[in-house]
Amino acid sequence: MHEWALAESVICSISDEIKKNKLSRISRVTVKIGELQQIDIEIFRFALENVLATYETTVDQECIILEKELSTLKCNVCENEWSFGENIKKMQADEAEAIHFIPEIAHTYMRCPVCGSPDFNIKKGRGVWIESIEGET
Ligand SMILES: [Zn+2]
Repeated sequence: MHEWALAESVICSISDEIKKNKLSRISRVTVKIGELQQIDIEIFRFALENVLATYETTVDQECIILEKELSTLKCNVCENEWSFGENIKKMQADEAEAIHFIPEIAHTYMRCPVCGSPDFNIKKGRGVWIESIEGET
């Protein structure tokens, strides 16, 4: 159910930004969703719509664009960079699912595809954030 909590905080941030920048007409809000963040886009959209209805804002549901950001993982041994999405097919479905829920355990299952080291950093692909808000003042 964390889609609902996220939707709440996203709408809350959007609403704050609008007030802070005194925007009147919002044309587009881009929300980025990291690949490693377990989000069901359909549920998230539904949650946004419902949370939005409880806020006094000028944002339309249609203006909110949800975009996925692919992950970037970097090996600390050979400095190879790769993306989780490329590796997911090689894993068992339940392992992939577990990583989506808890990015911290990615190291237990994943290895650098070049040198095989489990020592890598997650550089991109976590969290949900507001990329941009476009509107008129
Ligand atoms: Zn490596």
